Amino acid sequence: MRRSRKVKILATLGPASSEKSIIRRLYDAGADIFRINMSHTDHARLRALVATIREVEAEVGRPIGILADLQGPKLRLGKFAEGAIDIGPEDVIVLDSDPTPGDRTRVELPHPEILAALEPGHRLLLDDGKVRLRVTEASSTRAVAVVEAGVRLSDRKGVSVPDSTIDFGALTEKDRSDLEAALHAEVDWIALSFVQRAEDLAEVKKVARGRAAVMAKIEKPQAVERLDSIIDFADALMVARGDLGVELPLERVPGIQKRITRAARRAGKPVVVATQMLESMIQAPVPTRAEVSDVATAVFEGADAVMLSAESASGDFPVEAVETMDRIAIEVERDPNYKNIMHAQRTEPESTGADAISAAARQIAETLNLAAICCYTSSGATAMRAARERPQTPIIALSPVLHTARRLSLVWGLHCIAGPEPSTLEDMIHHACRIALREGLAQPHERIIVTAGVPLGKPGATNMLRVAFVEPEA
Ligand code: PGA
Ligand code: MN
Repeated sequence: MRRSRKVKILATLGPASSEKSIIRRLYDAGADIFRINMSHTDHARLRALVATIREVEAEVGRPIGILADLQGPKLRLGKFAEGAIDIGPEDVIVLDSDPTPGDRTRVELPHPEILAALEPGHRLLLDDGKVRLRVTEASSTRAVAVVEAGVRLSDRKGVSVPDSTIDFGALTEKDRSDLEAALHAEVDWIALSFVQRAEDLAEVKKVARGRAAVMAKIEKPQAVERLDSIIDFADALMVARGDLGVELPLERVPGIQKRITRAARRAGKPVVVATQMLESMIQAPVPTRAEVSDVATAVFEGADAVMLSAESASGDFPVEAVETMDRIAIEVERDPNYKNIMHAQRTEPESTGADAISAAARQIAETLNLAAICCYTSSGATAMRAARERPQTPIIALSPVLHTARRLSLVWGLHCIAGPEPSTLEDMIHHACRIALREGLAQPHERIIVTAGVPLGKPGATNMLRVAFVEPEA
């Protein structure tokens, strides 16, 4: 089975999509990789979902990626004696570390590290930005703030502090235990929420030891400021527009989305555009015009994947949401402007063997109108460089490592196949041709390009490119 589009669809699983039959339908409708949100999933459910996805994978005979998304340091306010307080402009409220339930004059902020980081002038955004406070006085254990916007505050509301860089690691105790469980379940990707700096990813990488690749969710202004160093360190990025739109003015999100997408593409790191892409489909079988346009924009930008959150996890129309994304993507990629935009945004190859071969493969394949580029890749790095070229020609990523094939399911344009490693060059060419034929990516008598590193079996850079004829099956 092959998809008729290059961009990938990442679908979040949840109560509306936990059964095997629905996961299978989501895959058939176009979901290439699934997200398990650890904010709402316990370890037993995680293991059950992974096992179910692997069953679907075996049924469909194609590698399917799994992303476990760690909650990260989601900050919350303490409680009020009466459950909530009414507030108004100019009201003054003290935030402290006293767990006694709060009232209209004070409330607990149960995160000593935020109290330590707050300074006069800093903003506190509560309840998804519905309430805005500004700090007027701060000591290391207490802050005085004035209400700038909002009418009501209730127990345990989320807090974001866009102006303060908080001095804690990116992993909470919950994240550490979720990370162990996810690695044990053999997920392919780990996403880390509220990354502030490249070092935040180091801890996850150290624990993961290569067992899963690491995606940095860009949802804090501190991460936007340090984008380059985060891109260097991360294996992939997510434009996490939900929290980004709380921490920064909403109107800045589209520009930042473009910046992150372009920077990730230049670096050759996969990038996902996430949140509220088809939000109205949580309740309706058809999207709004604006949502269709939003998905189309991400596809036109050459993002690797577009994501569904509640639409597929808890909405009433999970399968329809995936089908809708699939249809939008196919149509955009057929648009004559799409090719021009991909071409105009292409970045120069870096001076490595893999990049030189990837650029040459694209050029030869497009000039000779070849059927496919078959790319042997063991770590996946070479296939990602081939995808970075954004060729019109379909790319087959062939890997002897099943984990690699699953991981690459996130990447733009890659049709991933896990299979045995051929032992001779001739076997390799023959095998690539057979796969291209079997997968419907080439017809008999067409030609494909095969790229690989020789000698075979030795890890090392890609250094070979061959044009091969696809013989009819004997
Ligand atoms: P979340 O991340 O769904 O885990 O909050 C995505 C986002 O913030 O956009
Ligand atoms: Mn988020």
